Amino acid sequence: MRAVGGRLPRRPEVRAVLGRAAGGSVGGCVTQSLPGQRPVQTRASGGRGGLAVAVIGAGPYGLSVAAHLRRAGVPVRVFGEVMGSWRHAMATGMFLKSTPAATDLSAPGPGGRLSDFRRVHGEPELTELTPIPCEVFVRYGQWFKERYVGDVEPVRVASVDRATNTGGFAVLLDDGREFAAAAVVVATGLNGLAHIPEELLHLAPEGPGAGALVSHTSHHSDLSRYAGQRVAVIGGGQSALESAALLHEAGTHVQVLVRQRAVLWGTIPQPSRPWPQRLAKPASPLGTGWMLDAVCRTPGGVRRLPAATRLLLYRRALGPSGGWWLRDRVEEIVPVHTSRRVAHAEASSSAARLELAGPDGPDILTVDHVLAATGYRLDIGALPFLTPALRHGIACVTGSKAPRLTGGFASSIPGLYFTGSLAAPMFGPMMRFVAGTEYAAVRIARDAVRRIGTR
Ligand SMILES: Cc1cc2nc3c(=O)[nH]c(=O)nc-3n(C[C@H](O)[C@H](O)[C@H](O)COP(=O)(O)OP(=O)(O)OC[C@H]3O[C@@H](n4cnc5c(N)ncnc54)[C@H](O)[C@@H]3O)c2cc1C
Repeated sequence: MRAVGGRLPRRPEVRAVLGRAAGGSVGGCVTQSLPGQRPVQTRASGGRGGLAVAVIGAGPYGLSVAAHLRRAGVPVRVFGEVMGSWRHAMATGMFLKSTPAATDLSAPGPGGRLSDFRRVHGEPELTELTPIPCEVFVRYGQWFKERYVGDVEPVRVASVDRATNTGGFAVLLDDGREFAAAAVVVATGLNGLAHIPEELLHLAPEGPGAGALVSHTSHHSDLSRYAGQRVAVIGGGQSALESAALLHEAGTHVQVLVRQRAVLWGTIPQPSRPWPQRLAKPASPLGTGWMLDAVCRTPGGVRRLPAATRLLLYRRALGPSGGWWLRDRVEEIVPVHTSRRVAHAEASSSAARLELAGPDGPDILTVDHVLAATGYRLDIGALPFLTPALRHGIACVTGSKAPRLTGGFASSIPGLYFTGSLAAPMFGPMMRFVAGTEYAAVRIARDAVRRIGTR
């Protein structure tokens, strides 16, 4: 999740490499050269023409999809760092907001739940009242990978294009290797989709990086670098509030600026709620309430709603709020200014000068750094590995830049699947969370088997 707006440098050499004639063996892969076509390499065999399914991303969704594909006998190659986002795009010391019961990766058989992982390792069971440290979730992902997925290639996918000779895809890896895939599953999460509002971008004229006065929360895995400095955190959700707590605890002079009139906090879970309460507000993996319960039970039903309704659900179903267990670390400890909006920001003598609009009129705040906890924007145009030709062929949900998907998570380009957050405008808010892995992985594997067959 490092590039703001996903604008990683386009790589002109990608197309050159894909167009290069080649033969022989590279990196353990067989290279085929077909007259007048791109060279292709295959490793896993089986499926359509002996080609594998390429899964891009080894986070909760990529691992779950790969596990189901492997169990179904579909040859699969998985790319990326296992649980990479959870290691590099979350600050050390963070906890998951979701409850243990809503944080299982999807295994194709019993024994792969978070509670199984804890039991196997002799670790105490996590309950609704014990927030999950990110570090535990990363270890769970690694264990799941060993158990259900096997080989994951720790290399990034640089480019995906159509391979006209195979009817599948030409995939180029960051290390220069290339191969043909029967199908591609995009499971890259929110990587490249971080959003910094326009008015803050003046603070990073050269783009985010060393020396920039603004950065996005996803750029950080260690917030202690701001110890002793003045930092303004922009946003009122979990990311903003937890970052503020960690900054404060690291010795930073931190203030939080929230647009909303109040900060919302989750309520302490009650493991045994009386039945009238359960009836009035049923529990779901995303929280309590009829609406959340309905969208979690029937992602397929959500898909059949009009696009405008689905987008509204995506944007509004879960507004910004802080986890119940975080409240004590923020309230009356960190200054939180509500109803405050940054109207303008500029650099002034290596500090950031923020002009704020609020109920008491304009105000000025000068800080050493601005941390934008301002979320993500779904935009397939920001995925650096989709070639323009491929991207332009992908139909989007009306009113958004997210892909339109079939019930099997396939885009308008046959064999190209999207999962995780990018599927949320089709299947509802559950796809933004680990809880959606089961629904997605089962359907993608089923669709891929139907499309390309098995070994
Ligand atoms: C701060 C924060 C806290 C969150 N807390 C929770 C929570 O408590 N509970 C919850 O359910 N959800 C939470 N989420 C949402 C969370 O991101 C998802 O639930 C989950 O990680 C989605 O899994 P994923 O596999 O889609 O994406 P990710 O976990 O982001 O995995 C994507 C993977 O793709 C890899 N990748 C990206 N581009 C490439 C490429 N070109 N080539 C190869 N690999 C690539 C990345 O390295 C990464 O490993 C949180 C999100 C954020 C930002």
